[in-house]
Amino acid sequence: PTPPPDPDCIFCRIVAGDIPCHKLHKDEHTLAFLDINPTAPGHTLLIPKAHNARLDEMPGETMAKLGAVLPRLAGAVAGAVGAPGYNILQNNGAEAGQAVFHVHFHIIPRGLPGSDFR
Ligand code: 5GP
Ligand code: ZN
Repeated sequence: PTPPPDPDCIFCRIVAGDIPCHKLHKDEHTLAFLDINPTAPGHTLLIPKAHNARLDEMPGETMAKLGAVLPRLAGAVAGAVGAPGYNILQNNGAEAGQAVFHVHFHIIPRGLPGSDFR
């Protein structure tokens, strides 16, 4: 069973179209859009449309939908901004840096002059 949208969840509201975003990819099960507060140019978030707060609560089937998109999306995002590398980041729990409690994968381009952290 697909979990219902959470009206208090910012990413569910983006999926519903209530909050605008710069969309890079959309299909039946997933959505990708630019991060509003990018760590690097092209910083992108890939999310399942269904609401699950964290990875360990998400059905494995949903991971397959995300997995079908992530490799080529990551390459396209990095390529679009001319980055030679990228990080995939996925935070679970406030203690791990999770601020939005709807599963999301960060695609963070790396190696652009003047834009790298750490
Ligand atoms: P977390 O820290 O939970 O792994 O990452 C949440 C990310 O969502 C942050 O990088 C933050 O900038 C991004 N974010 C939060 N609210 C919004 C929003 O309303 N729109 C977009 N596009 N990104 C958001
Ligand atoms: Zn949600």
